[in-house]
Amino acid sequence: MGLSRDEILSAIYHCVKCKLCSIASFHPDEEWLPLCPSGQFYGYQAFYAPGKMEIFRELLEGNISEPSEGLLKAVYACTLCGACYEKCSKVSSVEIRLPDLFEEMRRELAEKGWALDAHRNIVDKINVTKNAYGEVGNKNRYSNKYPDADVLYFIGCTARYRVPEIADSMIAIFDKSGIRYQVMEDEWCCGSVLLRTGQKEAAETLIAHNMDEIKASGAKTVVFTCPGCLSTFRHNYPDMGVELLHSTEFLAKLGINVAENRDKKVTYHDPCHLGRDLGIYEEPRAVLTKVASITTMKREREQAWCCGSGGGVKSAFDDFALWCATERLKEAREAGAESLVSACPFCKRNLKEAAEKEGEGMEVYDIVELVNEAL
Ligand code: SF4
Ligand code: SF4
Repeated sequence: MGLSRDEILSAIYHCVKCKLCSIASFHPDEEWLPLCPSGQFYGYQAFYAPGKMEIFRELLEGNISEPSEGLLKAVYACTLCGACYEKCSKVSSVEIRLPDLFEEMRRELAEKGWALDAHRNIVDKINVTKNAYGEVGNKNRYSNKYPDADVLYFIGCTARYRVPEIADSMIAIFDKSGIRYQVMEDEWCCGSVLLRTGQKEAAETLIAHNMDEIKASGAKTVVFTCPGCLSTFRHNYPDMGVELLHSTEFLAKLGINVAENRDKKVTYHDPCHLGRDLGIYEEPRAVLTKVASITTMKREREQAWCCGSGGGVKSAFDDFALWCATERLKEAREAGAESLVSACPFCKRNLKEAAEKEGEGMEVYDIVELVNEAL
């Protein structure tokens, strides 16, 4: 990203502390719903976007010699969901995305040796196993059947090791649709979790390795079921001259051939990386509408409530992550949905965990699972 100190300070001074970034409606006579999970859960000014910017200013101006536990919590207990930026950009001319600014702040802290232990542990795991969960053993569960195929499926750590039903469904869709696809025999973590937690240097070898592998594969299109991986490839990897598509973009382009079935009453949760970050709102809905009947939650698209899993929050503040997901489940129920559907392994994992904890029977799916069922 490489923002200069002046650019950062200018963005910080831009903030007039109006706090519109904390609410999901502009209309005073309608409902004003919370938008910033961090501020809403912790309930203190430092956890909202303007508070975080003040912390960054103090840091840059050299006024923080040793961060307190509370300060580190305000910085890191933020899902980098970007809802604050969406709102701020409607009322101000701020140019730097606030998640980018907060990521830069984490980089400053990490350079001073103040990264969280939970996040340092991820670096250690990746150094040894090349995946964010430190898993060994089932790496080759997905074998490369067509090494010369034009399409390559980048599975990602979370679908590979935590939510394999997503990877299995995507692969089944390829097979059922007669699409020849590659998977990487030696896929490494994309580096997203390291970049989001300010540990950029540690991500560089991962980026170089994955780029070499993809170039050597000869693939022309890389498909992702993980919006976090896709965002990292689009924003943090140098251009490889290949097409990078989310599964829902790929399926919308392909025009999946299913007998339309709208028996399931679902609601769609926009993943932050897919929606606010990459601007992909229509394709998931276009695909989902073929296999289910969609009912709408109050906070959706640019104003969607985050699932709580991103930005290194799930690994460091699981209680906060699960609270965010529980709030989303409530909203899905209020919308009259029987199932909550997303398009991201992080969302599915956290929402499903919260649903199981609640025990109230809300089913949680990824779009590719419903498409696979319908094929
Ligand atoms: S909406 Fe923008 S200007 Fe207003 S408080 Fe939030 S970050 Fe600051
Ligand atoms: S990125 Fe999300 S959680 Fe973090 S301050 Fe902005 S709205 Fe709140």
